[in-house]
Amino acid sequence: MEQTFIILKPSTIRRSLVGDVISRFQRKGLFISGIKMMQLDEAVLREHYAHLVDRPFFPSLLRSMMATPVIVMVLKGKDAVAVVRAMVGATNCRNAAPGTIRGDFGMSGQENIVHASDSVENAGIEIKRFFSPEEIFDYAMDTTPAIYAPDELD
Ligand code: UDP
Ligand code: MG
Repeated sequence: MEQTFIILKPSTIRRSLVGDVISRFQRKGLFISGIKMMQLDEAVLREHYAHLVDRPFFPSLLRSMMATPVIVMVLKGKDAVAVVRAMVGATNCRNAAPGTIRGDFGMSGQENIVHASDSVENAGIEIKRFFSPEEIFDYAMDTTPAIYAPDELD
């Protein structure tokens, strides 16, 4: 089943929203395959946000992402990448639809609560960047028959 990569950004940690955000993913039916706290540094952020290093806001984004430790997660589910991006909402929280995580919890384009992988390919790259294989767990969930029909399991 598909995996996606999430960062609970310093905005989530500082505003004590960790439980609220994780709870949304769990209530949706996504399974937690990996979770840990870590301090990001400039080197890993330059890789992770390589598409943004030349943008004027990049120094501010670096400071924002290093302000506190973050919580990184691997979530598993059918079409998990697209499902999680839809739950997260538009990049700027002020434009994000009510009901999405950014739409409900934020007011900023930068302090926008979570990172979520934007494609299956990038999810694979990002999971490898932040997790070692022994930190990812594959375990049976008793709730599976209540979340998926038999023909939705692969
Ligand atoms: N960002 C920002 N200003 C911008 C655009 C992006 O500070 O004008 C930050 C914001 O925190 C965003 C991150 O850079 O989440 C990565 O940008 P991307 O375009 O990949 O958005 P995302 O995939 O997070 O929605
Ligand atoms: Mg992105």
